[in-house]
Amino acid sequence: MKIATLNKGKETKYLNQYPLVNEDDIYQHDHLKEGDLFHLVTEDNRYIATAYVGRQHKGLGWVLSYDQNEDINTPFFVKLFKQALEEREYYRNIEGTNAYRLFNAEGDGVGGLTIDNYNGHLLIQWYSRGMYKFRYNVIEAIQQVFDFSSIYEKMRFKDSEYTGGHVLGDTPEFPIVIEENFTFYNVYLDDGLMTGIFLDQKEVRKKLRDQFSEGRKILNLFSYTGAFSVVAAKHAKHTTSVDLANRSRALTEENFGLNAIDPKSQYIYVMDTFDFYNYAARHGKEYDTIVIDPPSFARNKKKTFSVQKNYDDLINGALEVLAPNGSLLLCTNSSVFPLKSFKNVIKSTLENAGVEYEIKEVMGLPKDFKTHPHYKPSKYLKAVFINIKH
Ligand code: SAH
Repeated sequence: MKIATLNKGKETKYLNQYPLVNEDDIYQHDHLKEGDLFHLVTEDNRYIATAYVGRQHKGLGWVLSYDQNEDINTPFFVKLFKQALEEREYYRNIEGTNAYRLFNAEGDGVGGLTIDNYNGHLLIQWYSRGMYKFRYNVIEAIQQVFDFSSIYEKMRFKDSEYTGGHVLGDTPEFPIVIEENFTFYNVYLDDGLMTGIFLDQKEVRKKLRDQFSEGRKILNLFSYTGAFSVVAAKHAKHTTSVDLANRSRALTEENFGLNAIDPKSQYIYVMDTFDFYNYAARHGKEYDTIVIDPPSFARNKKKTFSVQKNYDDLINGALEVLAPNGSLLLCTNSSVFPLKSFKNVIKSTLENAGVEYEIKEVMGLPKDFKTHPHYKPSKYLKAVFINIKH
């Protein structure tokens, strides 16, 4: 077994089960390559953990075990998958939902690997070349533990020419349809990095539908396939979806259609968010609930945008087109933008704008996106519902 020796004083962090091995904490190692297993040891050669090399974030790799006699093989993955399945009992048995995360990386014991269940069609996501080296064991273990009709994979690391595809089982025609809280969505497992729906927002969508939509005019910015619009449209007066990408229009219309909502009764704009703010303000348009769920970084012809630097612009723009006593749903999935900083930006922006506000709800990841207690970035999702009085 290869060895990586920690710098003096760094052992406490790993003895306290921090799962990501930081390269800067390593004093020396045995020419570690992607996919290698190694023992993490103290400078006086005491065993701490078994880890694998899979470069991701600032990490060299992830801890897999704290037992030096445990082999990392198919039975190792079988054990973790069985445990993960048991913990998802709730999602397996509820009515109206058939898509959820089965295995959530470090939260379930293997950083760099996720498995989602889309109504029996499984999607494996590999986050490093090193993790991908365990493909044989992972797929063997999946077959032993999970029921499925097909398995697909996506490569989430950069230097790969192959971006993913079919692994095993049926080859369904895409899109397949999944159900979440009695709403239907199209899903594509074989087309680029995104699947059509972000499963981590399921409880936020439900909250929007149940408490912030009734009889309201909804504006959904960065709308992608319109998931927030579709769920809100069930109770809303009407919805307006705005996304820069051309493809979003057809994808959104199809999701409305799936739910027996006439797409013509809703509004869809292929437009930059800031251009839309200007357009809407010029035309005196107002919305009762505005949903902002942007990518962490975005670029268009004119400018680059990052949630950490520019979220205040998004909020200020929204205030210009928000109806009296309207609500905002502000989201970010940036793991480097902690809840505290996000709340500070919200607070200072709203205070500077001179509006009274009340934070109604702060939401994070649902239970199937199990997080690691000692690794804060795994709680990346923040969604804040706010009522504005003006
Ligand atoms: N809110 C979505 C997910 C957003 S994904 C959901 O709930 O599913 C990010 C989306 O932002 C992409 O569809 C991308 O096309 C869009 N986007 C990126 N930059 C944009 C901009 N400047 N204005 C509007 N949309 C933008």
